[in-house]
Amino acid sequence: MKVLVLNCGSSSIKYQLFDMTTTTVMAKGLVQRVGMAGSTIDYRKGDDGKKKVYESDILDHKIGIQKIFELLTTGEEAVLKSLEELGAVGHRIVHGGDKFSSSVLITEEVKNAIRDCIVFAPLHNPPNLKGVEAVEEILPKVKQVAVFDTAFHQTMPAEAYIYALPYMFYEKHRIRRYGFHGTSHRYVASRAAKLLGKPLSELKLITVHLGNGGSVCAINKGKSVDTSMGHTPLEGLVMGTRCGDMDPALILHIMKEYELTISEMDNLLNKHSGVLGISQISSDLRDLEEDWPKKSERANLALDVYSHRIKKYIGSYIAVLNGVDAIVWTAGVGENSPIVRSIVHREMDWLGVKLDLEKNEVTWRGAEGDITTPDSKVKVLVIPTNEELVIAQDTMDCIKK
Ligand code: ADP
Repeated sequence: MKVLVLNCGSSSIKYQLFDMTTTTVMAKGLVQRVGMAGSTIDYRKGDDGKKKVYESDILDHKIGIQKIFELLTTGEEAVLKSLEELGAVGHRIVHGGDKFSSSVLITEEVKNAIRDCIVFAPLHNPPNLKGVEAVEEILPKVKQVAVFDTAFHQTMPAEAYIYALPYMFYEKHRIRRYGFHGTSHRYVASRAAKLLGKPLSELKLITVHLGNGGSVCAINKGKSVDTSMGHTPLEGLVMGTRCGDMDPALILHIMKEYELTISEMDNLLNKHSGVLGISQISSDLRDLEEDWPKKSERANLALDVYSHRIKKYIGSYIAVLNGVDAIVWTAGVGENSPIVRSIVHREMDWLGVKLDLEKNEVTWRGAEGDITTPDSKVKVLVIPTNEELVIAQDTMDCIKK
């Protein structure tokens, strides 16, 4: 079966077409600047074909998806004879609230439930839905599946997801911790079990997903029992431009002192904080790591605060899990930053973590590996995430059911 995976953001559409008989990528790419001047669509045949970039007027998500279909079926680099070959479309949907604990076939009822969750993810769920509706209009017969970022964390117990606010906020408005990056945490946990040669049901894992956003997850016997992001993706770790955990009283104080509106404060916390806020250099860790530790005091400080928060979460999740078998690093920073990994794992010998400094320095470039010494009691693994593959697999499983 051929499965198209779509990740529709507010102004972008990421896509990957899989041949699920061989689990290979047939084509992939990205539509950028949807609804803006200068929109482009890039296309790569196969997993590592040469990227071709096309300029095109892409006024909305439907036109963007139509262009993707055109590239998949026409021209020299086409990979499908016709769209009839397409078995199903799988969508990344950011927020499923507490209604979805696994991926589901999309029906009117599911679309309504995704709509109900717009209040929780106003920037993400609307474009996610636009993608679903666009495919419906272009290919009404093709089955579609929703894979939620929040679903994996629905196994969290109440003590991990209830905020210490008046209970009415939970009962009436479903204000609670949901967690995100679930597809990635789930994927790397299952790969870790394979690498360790043990069933997931016997493992205590801590997975650290660090991209532009970041989250840590405590996984007991394959189930998420706690995670650092909360009601929104702002809670938890220090991120590229997001502050993560902080004293909530500061929000009131800063708004009052600087006479900020709600949207200005929202902007400050989400777009101008994190490593960018501290360093005033960049939100991209590569810029701070250049010449590390000689770049600047503030670059070092940003890296230290960033890493310290990760260490704190790892420590607290070891307590939550009553131990840990392996710590797994993934996504842009997790896979590629030996500096962050080494700062976090510095002085963790009490835990039985012995990092192999040479292996840690290796640029893994898409490979999976163990970066500890053979006598390390707790293993530290680097595992590239592959959310698209999980979405394609879930899509196939839902269709088969
Ligand atoms: P997204 O969250 O958008 O999916 P990614 O998982 O691709 O993001 O991660 C993007 C981030 O990864 C960038 O902001 C950058 O800071 C970081 N990154 C990528 N390569 C490196 C590297 N070699 N060293 C440090 N950080 C890196």
